[in-house]
Amino acid sequence: MEDYRGKRVTVMGLGTFGGGIGAATFFARRGACVTVTDLRPAAKLEDSIARLKGFPIRFVLGEHRVEDFTSADLVVASPAVKYDSLFLKAARRAGVPVTHEMNILFEMCAGRPILGVTGSNGKSTTTALIGEMVRSRHAGALIGGNLGGSLLIAADESPDRSAPLVIEISSFQLFGLRRLKVSPNVAVITNITPNHLDWHGTFRAYAEAKRNILRFQKPGDVAVLNGDDPLLRRWARRLRSRAALFSIRVEPRTEKAAFLRGGHLMVRWEGREFRLVRETALKIPGRHNLANALAASLGAVAFGVEPWHASEAIVRFGGLPHRLEMVAEAPGNIRFFNDSIATTPESAICAMETFPPPITLIAGGSDKGVSFDGFAAVAVRRTRRIILMGATADKLEAALIRAASDAGRCPTILRAENLEQACAWAAEGAVTGETILLSPACASFDQFRNFEERGAAFRSLALRAAMARITTGSRNP
Ligand code: ADP
Repeated sequence: MEDYRGKRVTVMGLGTFGGGIGAATFFARRGACVTVTDLRPAAKLEDSIARLKGFPIRFVLGEHRVEDFTSADLVVASPAVKYDSLFLKAARRAGVPVTHEMNILFEMCAGRPILGVTGSNGKSTTTALIGEMVRSRHAGALIGGNLGGSLLIAADESPDRSAPLVIEISSFQLFGLRRLKVSPNVAVITNITPNHLDWHGTFRAYAEAKRNILRFQKPGDVAVLNGDDPLLRRWARRLRSRAALFSIRVEPRTEKAAFLRGGHLMVRWEGREFRLVRETALKIPGRHNLANALAASLGAVAFGVEPWHASEAIVRFGGLPHRLEMVAEAPGNIRFFNDSIATTPESAICAMETFPPPITLIAGGSDKGVSFDGFAAVAVRRTRRIILMGATADKLEAALIRAASDAGRCPTILRAENLEQACAWAAEGAVTGETILLSPACASFDQFRNFEERGAAFRSLALRAAMARITTGSRNP
């Protein structure tokens, strides 16, 4: 790796997820003169700044200054910064290379076995599950990426320089990776539906960024693709690597596949079939999680994991926080589920289809420019009440009213000031057996720093609301 001593490195976007912290730490440890710049003021980045304590880092917060970009030797941009940002343009014009945390990780780990997971939904669940499977074979395997924290630091500190990596890779990170012309040895794509169109511009640009996970694979590599997705089936026919398809609907005809048969999860690998576990053995709810488990099993087997290790991991895996996580229960079998991670309409659709009626859905947040029509069509069918909040409330309400007139059925629609009010209303009017579901279909940036903060807030509000119902007794009619 290059010698960075004395080099001026500007890290753009410290953020709160760990990527910026990882990049700043990585270069500071190598003796670079690191400048960290973020548009957010110090008060909003306290935790991240504290984690960089002890390193001689210069902070430029609340603004970006062109000179920090044009006079640097290297700029490490947060994956969320758009390619055409004025500051990145200025850096490139001045001949300063621009890179990303994920690119540095791939450069550092060249030659190691890498499994990458992307998709519009189910990335983190699939990655974490594959991580469980791979760890039973390689205890030192590194699991992470977009999942949270910095894998760069973990890889840097890991004593095992040949440990395999299991990485969740977002579309932004994949867009940045195209410059390196590398793809993981095993690439998993869970599904592709419109998302982040505000960033990528068009669905085509978004899908093409995702496709970078396959683009540079070699003939011995494996692409694990969702056989229920027409676009991915098309991609499977035009690969340099070997195709492996998973499906919850049919048995794919490929010699590498994962599917359901007779109530069991199955993997076919080079013609041999393995029965993994019963569908009912999964702790994570919903059909979408069957798809995630199939994708994970196929990916793990492609990565050298024995099928029975995959089975063990599936049975153990309890899911990730903020993903259909049950956070409180009140008398009358009223349950509160936190699905704060559901920042897309498709995720919220999945959540609504996971539970039997009656459902009270809490939805809304910041606007990513996607259509809510599909979401609304399901919501008017599946829910009893919908409580809307946040910047997208108007757009959601309009879509719901359109869908209700098509369906001839309209749930009660309420407009809350914020999550606190939404949660209180949801609990007050809940009926026996009700699922109160926070599955917002939108990002959280209008009210919270991120989905974790929104989920944590909901968790405590739900607990409080459940306690109130316990102490005052049910007010059901
Ligand atoms: P991601 O990392 O892609 O955001 P997660 O695994 O964190 O995905 O799951 C986020 C939410 O997306 C879940 O709570 C669920 O509502 C929905 N989801 C998960 N897997 C799928 C899937 N395979 N298809 C559609 N939606 C899914």
